[in-house]
Amino acid sequence: MFQKILIANRGEIALRVLRACKELGIQTVVVHSTADSDAMHVRLADESVCIGPPPSRESYLNIHQIVAACEITGADAVHPGYGFLSENAKFADILAAHNITFIGPSGDHIRIMGDKIEAKRTAKRLGIPVVPGSDGAISDEKEAKRVAAEIGYPVIIKASAGGGGRGMKVARTEADLEVALQTAKSEAGAAFGDDAVYIEKYLEKPRHIELQVFGDGAGRGVHFGERDCSLQRRHQKVWEEANSPALNAEERARIGGICAKAIADLGYSGAGTIEFLYENGEFYFIEMNTRLQVEHPVTEAITGIDLVHEQIRVASGGGLSVRQEDIKFNGHAIECRINAEDPRTFTPSPGTITHFHTPGGLGIRVDSGVYSGYRIPPYYDSLIGKLIVHGRNRVECMMRLRRALDEFVVDGIKTTLPLFRDLVGNPDIANGDYDIHWLEEYLAKAD
Ligand code: ADP
Repeated sequence: MFQKILIANRGEIALRVLRACKELGIQTVVVHSTADSDAMHVRLADESVCIGPPPSRESYLNIHQIVAACEITGADAVHPGYGFLSENAKFADILAAHNITFIGPSGDHIRIMGDKIEAKRTAKRLGIPVVPGSDGAISDEKEAKRVAAEIGYPVIIKASAGGGGRGMKVARTEADLEVALQTAKSEAGAAFGDDAVYIEKYLEKPRHIELQVFGDGAGRGVHFGERDCSLQRRHQKVWEEANSPALNAEERARIGGICAKAIADLGYSGAGTIEFLYENGEFYFIEMNTRLQVEHPVTEAITGIDLVHEQIRVASGGGLSVRQEDIKFNGHAIECRINAEDPRTFTPSPGTITHFHTPGGLGIRVDSGVYSGYRIPPYYDSLIGKLIVHGRNRVECMMRLRRALDEFVVDGIKTTLPLFRDLVGNPDIANGDYDIHWLEEYLAKAD
């Protein structure tokens, strides 16, 4: 087992990883920017190292400073959290070259899944169902037209290097295709320095359902069921649940089995998420994230398994603590992402939190790095906390969520709490009857 883990992140996820390390009796080092000197993860860690000024590229993305911090403190492993360097293959390679363990998959696996064309090709080879589309990058308009005619309109043009929903354009008819192709290419070139694009069938009303998987790096793979993250705004997840209101146990076991086998065949190590669009009972792979996800706590709530413990065990060579047959799904869990944003316009609302009171009681978990008197720096993501509620079934979970939202107090700044108080009383949400467009349509109507 590791002696000392360096946590290369901030906010609630830094605290989340710190808690897991403490439970496992592992010493902790955190790195932070000058803007985060008074952050909770810095206060609670055994050691902390200031690695630079507020902008992320000079601190949380500064590989040299982070490697130096490992060497100075004698850390033998790094947990990257999510975001920042968590899916940076070069970072994983550099740590390996310094004999420091990256708590995550190999640089090669990160690289494959970071390229969407390569990821899709790999998924297909491993027997994962994919969206019908071009086999690789589209070279010209003629080819785009041929493929689109084959798969049928509407189609979506996507950037191979894509991320954050950028470089995606929908073409409803052949007349739209030329413009869609050109704009997707130029957006991709500008955003990612790579204008390779591919084409796939555009699904009209899918849900976003993702499978939590784990590999032990020695040919064993398991799945921890799915999460439904269909409630999104601008491709950002807002509310996540496990299990999905749309799946039954047989469907879960079937797609879970396919994913677990793929992970085993790939020789994958650590946590991963295989993301699908789900429509009319069919799954369509869109991408795989090679890291822990923001929404992992809903999976922990229904399985009772600490996924960060598992990540650390696997990375240290100790293997997974569970076999597939040990993983049971109990009850229902929902996560609300609480952002320091105006609940109507979603503009960031940094500032000082004058009062912070979190709900408690059975089935309630709050993961947050903030506290009363904390000043939210304006430089980073606006996520200030996550409320995760568990109940024996979805109805109980929703009743408990409503109660927990009523108890939650964040004064001094604007937050997205009022949005969740609206959502929890909405009949479509109560029925689990929503797709990936539902929230945007709901917000447009409320305007
Ligand atoms: P990114 O990495 O940029 O987030 P994804 O491939 O994960 O890109 O897609 C982001 C979102 O775009 C999906 O959650 C979905 O809302 C939409 N999307 C992507 N592919 C399709 C498709 N084939 N049909 C319909 N919507 C799609």
